[in-house]
Amino acid sequence: IRHKYGIYYSEYDEETHKKYHKRQYIVNHIDQAVQEGWIRPYYQPVVWSDTKELCGCEALARWIDPKYGFLSPGDFIPILEEHRLIHKLDVAIFESVCKDLRSHMDSGKPFVPVSLNFSRLDFELMDAVTVLNDLVTKYNVPRDYIHVEVTESALTDNMDILKQSMDRFHELGFAIWLDDFGSGYSSLNVLKDYRFDVLKIDMKFLSSFDTNPKSKDIIKSVVDLAKKVGMKTLTEGVETKEQAEFLNVVGCGRLQGYLFGKPLPVADIDDGIETGKYT
Ligand code: C2E
Ligand code: CA
Ligand code: CA
Ligand code: CA
Repeated sequence: IRHKYGIYYSEYDEETHKKYHKRQYIVNHIDQAVQEGWIRPYYQPVVWSDTKELCGCEALARWIDPKYGFLSPGDFIPILEEHRLIHKLDVAIFESVCKDLRSHMDSGKPFVPVSLNFSRLDFELMDAVTVLNDLVTKYNVPRDYIHVEVTESALTDNMDILKQSMDRFHELGFAIWLDDFGSGYSSLNVLKDYRFDVLKIDMKFLSSFDTNPKSKDIIKSVVDLAKKVGMKTLTEGVETKEQAEFLNVVGCGRLQGYLFGKPLPVADIDDGIETGKYT
């Protein structure tokens, strides 16, 4: 307990106070963060489940801040969404990814497709399809090297804009991946109304892999269901060899998780590609 201006603040108040300042800081510095390159994509490997070879990466935002240090999405995404500023961060990530892909192509380094996270608000706050398409045109990145990740919750909100945007992405040649599949309530309807190229099975299904035998049955059923409706699957959050083996046996084609690699800066992910670390 500290004495300040004659008022006693409890520790709780001080915590709240610090949090408030950090929130304000994020909101006030988003433009500067974009301009000065504090926001960067980290890349997490995605592998084929049969060969364990690298087949892609997911771009995950990190904010490396001069004052607060290394910030993860949990520290800034909810705040930026609340203040309707999330599109600024997303555009910065999209552009950095296009730049990274371009420089790999120019230097002859190996590279793989990258999936990009879209907030549901991106579709309200900007013309997300045009923004992405202009960036891939500017950097001359092949469209099949960019995958669009949307979450179920995005689709339940503004059905019309979303449906149109999904159709435009597909017409332009971008694949659409449904993120966090199974984490919401509308999962099955969403499959009826949209065509997704890949379903990303939410990592919560793996959380009780060892303890609850039903979780294996559920994962297998989701993979089978996806096959029936002509969609491919990826399971997120794979942390053990047993999980990877099971997922390969039931026919989930792609895997992502700490077993294969954490999100890394572009140079470090390259080292893995060069040494075949992911295979
Ligand atoms: P997400 O899209 O579902 O991304 C997967 C999250 O799981 C990432 O957390 C990743 O680091 C983490 N993860 C990956 N493998 C494992 C594992 O084996 N075990 C565990 N426990 N976790 C694993 P991260 O990077 O903190 O991102 C959190 C969320 O923030 C993302 O969830 C996504 O919804 C959002 N996000 C991240 N980057 C962006 C971005 O550029 N734009 C937008 N709009 N959202 C983003
Ligand atoms: Ca994602
Ligand atoms: Ca996810
Ligand atoms: Ca390197």
